[in-house]
Amino acid sequence: MTKAKRIVKFTAETERTFIFRSRADRLSEWCAECSKAVEMATVEEAARTAGVSELTICRRIEACSLHFTETSDGRVFICLNSLRK
Ligand SMILES: [Zn+2]
Repeated sequence: MTKAKRIVKFTAETERTFIFRSRADRLSEWCAECSKAVEMATVEEAARTAGVSELTICRRIEACSLHFTETSDGRVFICLNSLRK
């Protein structure tokens, strides 16, 4: 395999991983509290976005200061709209 072909292959795999990760960590979902479709993220991704710990995100969920939804497979997604407030 030539060097150019290896680079193309590497780029394609990196992009695929990125798309998969972004799909896994974020999704556009209807938020009942906001009454509109918003961007939602996993607890881990929300913590990274806000620059706080995952525990802080969990505490904010308990304090009802964050909107969230639970998917059918049991994953919790945080409303990024409420996170920015
Ligand atoms: Zn919301």
